[in-house]
Amino acid sequence: MDKLLYINGEWMGSELEKINVTNPATGEIVGTVPNAGVKETREAIDAAYSAFLEWSTLTAYERAEYLEKLYEMMVENKDKLAKLITIEMGKPLSESKGEVQYAAEFLKWFAEEGKRVYGRTVPSHTKDKRMMLIKQPVGVVAAITPWNFPAAMITRKLGPALAAGCTFILKPAEETPLTALMLAMLCEKVGIPKGVVNVITGQPVQIGEEFMANPKVSKITFTGSTAVGKLLIKQSAEQVKKISMELGGHAPIIILDDANVEKAVKGVLLSKFRNGGQTCICGNRIYVQEGIYDDFIQKFIKAVETLKVGNGLEEGIEVGPIINKSGYDKINMHVQDALNRGATCLLGGKGEQQDNAYFYYPTILADVTKEMIIMNEETFGPVAPIQKIASDEEAIHYANDTMYGLAAYVFTENYSRGLNVVESLNYGIVGWNDGVPSAPQAPFGGMKQSGIGREGGIEGIEEYLETKYVSIGS
Ligand code: ADP
Repeated sequence: MDKLLYINGEWMGSELEKINVTNPATGEIVGTVPNAGVKETREAIDAAYSAFLEWSTLTAYERAEYLEKLYEMMVENKDKLAKLITIEMGKPLSESKGEVQYAAEFLKWFAEEGKRVYGRTVPSHTKDKRMMLIKQPVGVVAAITPWNFPAAMITRKLGPALAAGCTFILKPAEETPLTALMLAMLCEKVGIPKGVVNVITGQPVQIGEEFMANPKVSKITFTGSTAVGKLLIKQSAEQVKKISMELGGHAPIIILDDANVEKAVKGVLLSKFRNGGQTCICGNRIYVQEGIYDDFIQKFIKAVETLKVGNGLEEGIEVGPIINKSGYDKINMHVQDALNRGATCLLGGKGEQQDNAYFYYPTILADVTKEMIIMNEETFGPVAPIQKIASDEEAIHYANDTMYGLAAYVFTENYSRGLNVVESLNYGIVGWNDGVPSAPQAPFGGMKQSGIGREGGIEGIEEYLETKYVSIGS
């Protein structure tokens, strides 16, 4: 599957060097994409800049029609897109289908939300003045996305950007460019005008630097690691670009002793092992109160034992491969460090390399402590470290003792304890008796070093709008 860049409505870049895309479940090369650099990035920016003139003046209703068509096209092509996601990213096919639907929903939600970009009038302090606030699109948006949700991390940015009247250049992750280019193909099919959506693949550093240096780009929206996010924030200062940053997390899960154990097991299973533990809101550390500890552990082991690991294209697989060797090495390092420092392995604790494919078995670690790397850094793998805690206060203290603030979870049936924990957590998202909080209509984003801004919800479109205040004299 050899794909090309999509710039100004044309497929180009066949003369460029190629980047291989591999299937993480087999290590096989499944496609190639062009290795673009500064020149192609400039072309894409120019195209988006020219297209902005017309796209931004369409009515919200006209833009919504395109987004609704794109939604329908994604749903029609769900099986194809899902297979592509599994092939280049590895997640089980059923999860990929779920991702396509979830990704498409962002287009539908923002198609509607674009019609509700309201301005305001403000009472004046003098009789001869009127004061008016209007909302306008920020301009050309450059998006940089990660590999763990090859479709949803794109539409979560594309939907609101296009609905607001912005034009768009996407640089997808090197690991998963094929899904991005298939989305570009669907944009072409539904007739989104040329230059409104552009996709370039290639050198992240060069492309990123051009996004930042080019004055035609008004906004950078990024999802990825905190380290790269910090670099982009620094680079964005030069031209004071608008930025949205969805960065790393280290989600705590708190299980209080009045939790419903079945609900907690189900919630932790979903939060921890979805996508093989490779999402930024996956539970990273689990704090279980003494009174429920033994019961939870016993039922949790039973549930995790049944998870089937393997190639996500095969029927019944629930945990796919790890994205690449460095991801796999990191998981091994975190587990080894925990074991060296006294953790007890209750399940799993090992991985398996098959040629160039890397699998890690669902793992449960008990007796973990605060100093262990796994309790502080994102593992991005199917490992559940569990620490026993005595009180709500202790759990809250541990939960907040991190530089991250993306997602946190609490399981309790007690309303006032639940509210107290929810209000005390320094996190942008809290799942209360819920392991899967993400939804297009709800704002997603982090506090502290987990990011800047929100995606989804009514907040999601604000990120792509400027507020202009007009003072009208007599
Ligand atoms: P991960 O560790 O999950 O791969 P990264 O933050 O490295 O997360 O990658 C997320 C996205 O950021 C990818 O599209 C990647 O190509 C891009 N990226 C990585 N480094 C840079 C950089 N220096 N400038 C711009 N984009 C980058």
